[in-house]
Amino acid sequence: MALIVQKFGGTSVATTERIKNVAKRVARWKAQGHDIIVVPSAMSGETNRLIGLAKEISASPNPRELDVIASTGEQVTIALLAMAMQELGLKAKSYTGPQVRVLTDSTFTKARILQIDDARIRKDLASGHVVVVAGFQGADGHGNITTLGRGGSDTSAVALAAALKADECQIYTDVDGVYTTDPRVVPEARKLDTITFEEMLEMASLGSKVLQIRSVEFAGKYKVKLRVLSSFEDEGEGTLITVEEDNNMEQPIISGIAFNRDEAKVTILGVPDRPGVAYQILGPIADANCDVDMIIQNVAHDGTTDFSFTVNRSDYSKTMELLNGIATKLNARGVVGDNKTCKVSAVGVGMRSHPGVASKMFKELGAEGINIQMISTSEIKISVVIEEKYLELAVRVLHKAFGLDKPA
Ligand code: ADP
Ligand code: ASP
Ligand code: MG
Repeated sequence: MALIVQKFGGTSVATTERIKNVAKRVARWKAQGHDIIVVPSAMSGETNRLIGLAKEISASPNPRELDVIASTGEQVTIALLAMAMQELGLKAKSYTGPQVRVLTDSTFTKARILQIDDARIRKDLASGHVVVVAGFQGADGHGNITTLGRGGSDTSAVALAAALKADECQIYTDVDGVYTTDPRVVPEARKLDTITFEEMLEMASLGSKVLQIRSVEFAGKYKVKLRVLSSFEDEGEGTLITVEEDNNMEQPIISGIAFNRDEAKVTILGVPDRPGVAYQILGPIADANCDVDMIIQNVAHDGTTDFSFTVNRSDYSKTMELLNGIATKLNARGVVGDNKTCKVSAVGVGMRSHPGVASKMFKELGAEGINIQMISTSEIKISVVIEEKYLELAVRVLHKAFGLDKPA
């Protein structure tokens, strides 16, 4: 008998029919004698709808109130799921995040989980209940409702698994595992049986939204056995996220291609080349909570230099506005921006022992006439910023060039 946390994403609970199917799946696990905690997302599209309502009232809704409304999507699915299980004769009980007491910090709309009180859940499990806990939400120390950022139910599930020392955390979604790249963009993408935490973390932070980044961080830190599976198919082992690197010699150099469409690039032209300028530019951007990703400072000439960086597209206009003010202060030559850019990355721990990955990537993109605007590398990834219209082409070309379409 094991303790298993099962998370079901939005498409898996999109209709009452699907909710009944989830209940049947849970019942099968329960019948095998396991203790089950179920963590559903809101019905697909629901969180967007709720945020849309808020935006009809206010262009920049109060974050505390936004969390009050955004968290309600999951409150609907927990109750429906618990009822569906009761219809099957199971004992089931639902809880919102604040009821469990998923304690978070007070960063509304992207709160971090600090602690989870396991008392109620343990008591219900002991009396034979399936416990259904709303994903994506918690409450801060003052009892304010908080949410964990988009895709946050993954993190709720992993955090519950860590807090209760579950044997496994299963993420059920609309694909049957983690693929070499998004199978919706490259149909030849292959499902991976395993992927290391390190690689999964890179894939997630470089745009593969199959798992929320924080859920992978949590699972790595607390050694949670994490698996991604299909909620529509009954067979299959999905993808296991593993701690160990595969030591076999056949290990691929590149494990996957990730991409992010939400990238915008800004450049401040002709800033004085002197100590402290990077801080004068990026300090106010960080203070305005805009996340800066890639940064490039060109070589100085005439005592001035150009300084470029990327931000999330949703922060583009705010960043341009701030940058115009900074440019005036620094006596810079001007500001230019482009919000039609994207980032494509190749990820793989095998890269460590294989030089030449970057040059191969640049060669392939060059051959397709795709201009590289920015480059960033680490031990296990290479990212490039390119024009958005080339995204699909670049992903397909690199996927093929690195042999990801062929069985390992
Ligand atoms: P859920 O609603 O279940 O949380 P998400 O939409 O958040 O589902 O995540 C699943 C989606 O992630 C898939 O439908 C797929 O399009 C996308 N995705 C992106 N990159 C990958 C990848 N490398 N492997 C699998 N799926 C990926
Ligand atoms: N419902 C939330 C969202 O759409 C959380 C999640 O699905 O994980 O972002
Ligand atoms: Mg998701």
